[in-house]
Amino acid sequence: MKIQTMVMFLATVSMVFVTGCGTIFQRTAADVLVPVEEENRLGTEVAREIDKELTFHSSTEVQTYVRELATSILRNVPNIPRGIQFRFVVVDDPDTINAFAIPGGGIYIYSGLMLAMDSEAELVAVLSHEIAHVTRRHVAQRLVAAYGADAISRAALGEEPGIVGQLATAVIGQGFMLRYSRDQERDADEWGFDYMVRANYDPQAFVTFFRKLEGAPSPPTFLSSHPPPSERVQNIRRMIQDLDRVPTRTEAERFLKIRNQL
Ligand SMILES: [Zn+2]
Repeated sequence: MKIQTMVMFLATVSMVFVTGCGTIFQRTAADVLVPVEEENRLGTEVAREIDKELTFHSSTEVQTYVRELATSILRNVPNIPRGIQFRFVVVDDPDTINAFAIPGGGIYIYSGLMLAMDSEAELVAVLSHEIAHVTRRHVAQRLVAAYGADAISRAALGEEPGIVGQLATAVIGQGFMLRYSRDQERDADEWGFDYMVRANYDPQAFVTFFRKLEGAPSPPTFLSSHPPPSERVQNIRRMIQDLDRVPTRTEAERFLKIRNQL
């Protein structure tokens, strides 16, 4: 009986899924080691700490705009793990170019990042990338890598309050603990690209935005943990070439009206 259970367990871990966009991916250990319910519970605790430290933008119009835009992307995302509840907030910090995802699907976008954008398509590129870190369970994988699965389970049950505090501090300090690997960044770019095209936005905005950040006087923290922008731009250009039809929607005008309120 025990052996049977073990065999089933291994079969689950190594099962290969074929997704809607034709990419084959493998379920990772994080799916088994950190169940979504645990990630959610931990996310709620971490959000409570983070929300105390950050100032949310006061404009309801800005918050609603980002939330509705993200919801429209999610409508076409085929691989949302069951139980993940996304939440999107705009942080009022015009001097910081940053965005991050916390466990459970909380995504924070800094007003400084939005001020560096010129179209809704550029915002869709960043949102799609962060959404992919959550759907692909990179956040859960980093948690396991940093603390071990047991500690994460205990933290989710409220038995390791130290971890929640540490995580909150680390995430605010530019996500040091949750720094993704190069492969995870590449993966989030690829899946984010797919989400963007599914949402019918011009994927060229991925390229223009990276180019802009690359040219910034001091490289933004948002990019520091990522592969070189030139490499990412190259990958995205290749993906654009492979598309049968390239969407052209950018919604610049609508975005600029919102940007004026930041
Ligand atoms: Zn990333």
